[in-house]
Amino acid sequence: MALTGIQIFKLLPKTNCKECGVPTCLAFAMNLASGKAELDSCPYVSDEARAQLAEASAPPIRPVVVGQGVRKATTGGETVMFRHEKTFFNPTMFAGTITSDTDAAEVEAKMKAWNALQYERVGLNLRPELVALKDVNGDSVAFAALAKQIAETSEFNLILMSDDVAAIEAAVATSAFKRPLIYAATEANADELGKIALDNDLPLAVKADSIDGIIALTDKLTGMGLKDLVIDSGSRELKQALEDQVAIRRAALKDTNRSLGFPTIVFASEMASNSDMEALVAGMFVSKYAGIVVLSSLETEVIFPLLLERLNIFTDPQRPMTVTEGIYPIGNPDDNSPVLVTTNFALTYFIVSGEIEASKVPAWLLIKDAEGLSVLTAWAAGKFGGDDVGMFVKKCGIMDKVKHQELVIPGYAAAIAGDVEEELSGWKITVGPRESAHLAGFLKARV
Ligand code: SF4
Repeated sequence: MALTGIQIFKLLPKTNCKECGVPTCLAFAMNLASGKAELDSCPYVSDEARAQLAEASAPPIRPVVVGQGVRKATTGGETVMFRHEKTFFNPTMFAGTITSDTDAAEVEAKMKAWNALQYERVGLNLRPELVALKDVNGDSVAFAALAKQIAETSEFNLILMSDDVAAIEAAVATSAFKRPLIYAATEANADELGKIALDNDLPLAVKADSIDGIIALTDKLTGMGLKDLVIDSGSRELKQALEDQVAIRRAALKDTNRSLGFPTIVFASEMASNSDMEALVAGMFVSKYAGIVVLSSLETEVIFPLLLERLNIFTDPQRPMTVTEGIYPIGNPDDNSPVLVTTNFALTYFIVSGEIEASKVPAWLLIKDAEGLSVLTAWAAGKFGGDDVGMFVKKCGIMDKVKHQELVIPGYAAAIAGDVEEELSGWKITVGPRESAHLAGFLKARV
């Protein structure tokens, strides 16, 4: 149960030393209670108090790490019902399903195809994280062998799905190093699967047909010492499954119900009869509020839009999306290629770089940090001034890459041309088109 500000205050040193950045221990306690401060900001909390306070300052939905390696990810850790209240933190993970009767060669081919499903956006590599390995025939040897194959030969992390405790035990023996999620503890097998998860320090999914059933299971497993749990509310009927997601999130956040304070897993694969509907179902649960969505397969036309939706939903709405300041070569430019500059607002970057790419004219695109603002806004806000742009061009290293001295600035920033010219002595400043749609024509006309 979360502690109140006053309860937290009683556990603090009460010296009002201000080292945590606020004037008093009471103010720090209030911030801690409302999630606005980190416990580590106070260096003087005793170990005993720290243990109690860690509980109080823990996110109402426990963050659970699944996997190892480059696709290791955290699910849960959310603090709000709606992203505009603050932000959603840990993007929904996506899993494609492989059944245990699939032969090794086919699994290898699938892993290769699924591994290629990676998309570069806003400087991020978007990709699915998980394979849900589903036991369909009770053959624990085959199940464990495929778990080993996927764990050892692919970047994907695993969900081990079986009702058979022996099969889970065998698969954990071959793939525990990849920190798979065990699916799923039920009333019938919670003791055995709980022990396997505890002994191997693995996350464990729980499944029941009612919220009360879930609470009984999570209470039992946390009583055994397990912390990293994932909830499957059991419903495969769309409306009920959505209601469950909302009820679980609301209970965890609004009622600080720790028994439901875990991320959830949703099986879009079991709620739709075709891949179009499956994509829609999955998309709905990215918004509300699945920590993991399991798909029947990973196909470009399904996973790509879902990854983009995920990117949008889990982007902090209070901070514009940006790309890193620097030099972006487009289409193998050489030392004669044109040099263009614009701001680091992600949308600006993608539109401008896309138009340059479409023009087939190789070019150097300079991205200047303007705090994520578009050209006109950045210029109006003084973040894309002539002096700044000139200095950036000097220090970014483009002068070592080209032998000409011409810079193309955005048409909307034509007013800075004089100042840039002054800063970049000897350079010709050319004002480019206002609209990026005219960039291709502009570049082609210069060839
Ligand atoms: Fe109190 Fe700790 Fe903050 Fe000092 S650093 S004012 S002891 S809470």
